[in-house]
This record gives sequence, structure tokens and C-alpha cells, in this order.
Amino acid sequence: MTEPLIYELGAPGRRAIRLPEPDVPRADLPEAMLRKDLNLPEVSELEVVRHFTRLSTLNHSIDRGFYPLGSCTMKYNPRVAEDLARLPGFARAHPLQDEESAQGVLFVMHMLQEWLREIGGFAGVSLQPAAGAHGEFAGILMMRAYHLDQGDTKRTKILIPDSAHGTNPASTTMSGLDTVEIPSDGRGNLDLQALRAACDDTVVGLMITNPNTLGLFEEHIQEVVELIHGCGGLVYGDGANMNALLGVVRPGELGFDVLHYNLHKTFGTPHGGGGPGSGPVGVAARLVPFLPGPIAVALMPEDEPDRSKAEDNGEEGDLEMPIYRLAMPAKSIGRMKAFHGHSGIFVRAYTYIRMYGSQGMRKIAEHSVLNANYLQSRVGRTFPIPHDNRTCMHEFVAEGTVEGSQVRALDISKRLMDFGFHPPTNYFPLIVHEALMIEPTETESKATLDAFAEALATIAREALEDPELVQTAPHSTPVTRLDEVKAVRELVLRYTAP
Ligand SMILES: *Cc1c(COP(=O)(O)O)cnc(C)c1O
Repeated sequence: MTEPLIYELGAPGRRAIRLPEPDVPRADLPEAMLRKDLNLPEVSELEVVRHFTRLSTLNHSIDRGFYPLGSCTMKYNPRVAEDLARLPGFARAHPLQDEESAQGVLFVMHMLQEWLREIGGFAGVSLQPAAGAHGEFAGILMMRAYHLDQGDTKRTKILIPDSAHGTNPASTTMSGLDTVEIPSDGRGNLDLQALRAACDDTVVGLMITNPNTLGLFEEHIQEVVELIHGCGGLVYGDGANMNALLGVVRPGELGFDVLHYNLHKTFGTPHGGGGPGSGPVGVAARLVPFLPGPIAVALMPEDEPDRSKAEDNGEEGDLEMPIYRLAMPAKSIGRMKAFHGHSGIFVRAYTYIRMYGSQGMRKIAEHSVLNANYLQSRVGRTFPIPHDNRTCMHEFVAEGTVEGSQVRALDISKRLMDFGFHPPTNYFPLIVHEALMIEPTETESKATLDAFAEALATIAREALEDPELVQTAPHSTPVTRLDEVKAVRELVLRYTAP
């Protein structure tokens, strides 16, 4: 690491702030409370600004370059959503404020719930879960609560395809249920025969991603849903891939009972450090009473006797306007999150949906699928594409191998960084050898997709002509190839002064 740490900058006596002379008598802090061993850097304001500005440019980010990280939908985060989230009425709202004084926030929550409900074809939505994985956990708890409420106590199994994202079995295990893996067939679909064999009265439900993690639409989704419902189970949809379906397919109409949305994937809100995430859940009518809460509800004056009485007495108020309140569903599984979920993210997702409108939603899906198919056909000239006889959805998986070379998918990914691209997802899904999972998203131009495909073609040539160059990459990044085995064995979790 060549970059200096902030602890190594500056010199004694340098200051970034200047405080005015106090207008009260000085008093010393109690000696016992002062730490002498706290070696804080003394730096000027300019040093602080330069240090953090430089650091902010070291990591790759969507604002710096193409980020084709499959399964993660790293699309552009529109700045207008940032502006709205920073409006003082949203940014300074306090979760303990009374409902009357937080009507704007509750309105946004209610509209977002309604739009997600509409987009997914569901009967109800809760914005509580903080991420996709958290939505999965909420979904499984609801499915379990539903069966128990029916007096059905023998159901303990969740069926999960072998192509599933790692969070699916993790959420199942966390909720105390057993995971049963269902294989995929030769066309990349869930194997119907294996599914039929696993369906019985101990099944809580199926957890399925559609389009699946191979980027393929499940061709027998209707039969799959009927099979599960036929044995009394429920269908959980992992909605991380909703980007391909927006305005085209409504999972609720396919018969899904629950689905999580990843606002930080499909609805353009930032991931990670710029986040946090948000994983609302939509449910079919029979699960509405079990939704996590509280949920924003819109009440008309006739729903609130006190309010219509005030109106009758000629007091201020608008009879036509709903008033927004928070309410807990009747048999709710409870809270998933302190307070009301990540409300700043709700404002961003609200802005995003509002900005595109219903026609725009469909265009997002169409362009993301078009971009992925274009890129698949270009990358397919360089690397093998399993199931390449099928149209992909918003992403695709290639096999990162070059005939006659020892170069692996990991090497190809590392070398891509030298070309200024973020690597694709590696070694996932597990069922594809040397998997490179590529998702361009709808926000990239043809020029970017072409440049990326050309970089991959160049790397494939290098793999034959100068394999060492690829196997030791990256060469141009602040940190070059790491010893991953050593990193795992000898974790360094904190800075220690030299
Ligand atoms: C991202 C993802 C998840 C998990 O979502 P998080 O918001 O990261 O918790 C689950 N399934 C699939 C297919 C995903 O791509």
C-alpha cells in the first residue's frame, strides 16, 4: 500500500479548525478523563481535503466507470433523487415525530407501497426490510406464520434451486427451516421432475428467482407454481432480477405469494456506502395480514370519526385529502427494523418511479434486456456461453476459459481492471464452470458495451500470447494482486502505528 494513512500525515501544531476565544472562564478537563495514548494526527484543512478526495478516487464506482457486476444491477443513481432526499422535510424528519407533522414522509411511503404493489401485481407491500436478504427472511417468516395460523404444523422444508443466490439458503437456515436443493435441467430451468418428487405436505414453499441467476426466464414457471400450490406450499419470489420484468411481467399474476424488491438494484438507489439498501416485500391477499409493520395507510375522513366530526363543526381541514397513518397488520410477524425502514431510500425510489412513469418502467426492462443480449452476442465470440441457444434476460453468464491456456475466470476479471472496468461476478452461479456473470444494465451506451467486449477479446488473446500478464493482473490499480489465501489466514482488521 503506497497511499499514506491519515495517521501518517501532518505535523504537531497543524490545525484544520480555529475556535473563537471563549466568552466564559476557561476550565481544565478532569485529568483522569484525558487519554494520553491517543495518537491523533495534526493536519491542516487542505491536507484533510486532499487526503479524502484522493481516497475517494481509489475505488471503482458506478460514477467512475462500467460496473457489470452480475446479479447486482449496478445502474446509474440519478442525481435528482439525491436532491429530493436532501430536502429538509425528508432529511430532518425524526422517526418519533407525531404522524400529523410527518405527512410528507408518510405520503411518500404510501405511494411507494402502492406503486410497488402495482408493479409486482400484489395485494399488499411492506417497506420494512433493509435489504433483499432481509426481505427473504421476512418472506419465510410470513410463510411459516401462515401455515401455523392454518393449524398446519408439519411443514419444515423450503425448496431452493441449485442456481440460487447464497442468501436464499442462508435466510432459510436463519428461520430454522430445512433447505432442500432442486437441480436445474439442461436448458437452465428448474428440473420439473425433481421438483415434483420433492413436493409433499412438509413443504413450506419454494424460493425461486425469475429470471434465474443464469439470466434465463423459467420456461415452466406456471407449472412450477401449480406444483407448489398443489402440495399446499407457497411460492417466494427472489425479486433481485425485477429489472428484466418491470412493466412486462407481474410476479403476483404468475401466482407468486411473496416477493422482495431490491430498491438498490431495480429502482436506482445507491448500493453499499452510498446506501443503505432496502428490500420491501409484496404479498398476495392471503399473506397481507402477516406483513411486517408498521405500514403507511391512507385514511379518508369517514375512516376517522374524530376528523369528520371536526369538519362538521366547521374546523380547518380538507375533507377530500386522505390523512396518512402508520398501522400494524392484524397478524403481523412484527417489526423487521427499528422505526420505519430506510426512509431516505424510499424518497429516492419514489423519485425514480415517479420520474420514469409506467411507460418508462417498461422501457427500463426492454433496454436492460436489449443491452444484455447485445453484449452476450459480442462476448459469445470470445468465451463459451452455456445455454447460448436462448435469449437472455437482463444478464448472462459466460465461461471464463480460453482453449489452450491455463488462465482462469479470476485472472480475466483481475485483468479487466487494467482496462478500467469493474470485474463481472465470478464463480456464481455455482453450476457454471469458471462463471463470469455479466449484467450491463440499461444505463450503459453501445460504445461502453463495445469497449468492454473488445477488452475481453484482448484479454483472451493475451491469455495465449502472454498468460503471465493476465495471471499477475491487475497492474495499474492502487493495490495489485492480493494473496487471497494469506489474507484469509492472517486477517488484519485494524491499523496499528508502526
Ligand atoms: C442481490 C441479491 C440478493 C440479496 O439482496 P441484498 O439486497 O444484497 O441482500 C438475493 N438474491 C439475488 C438473486 C440477488 O442478486
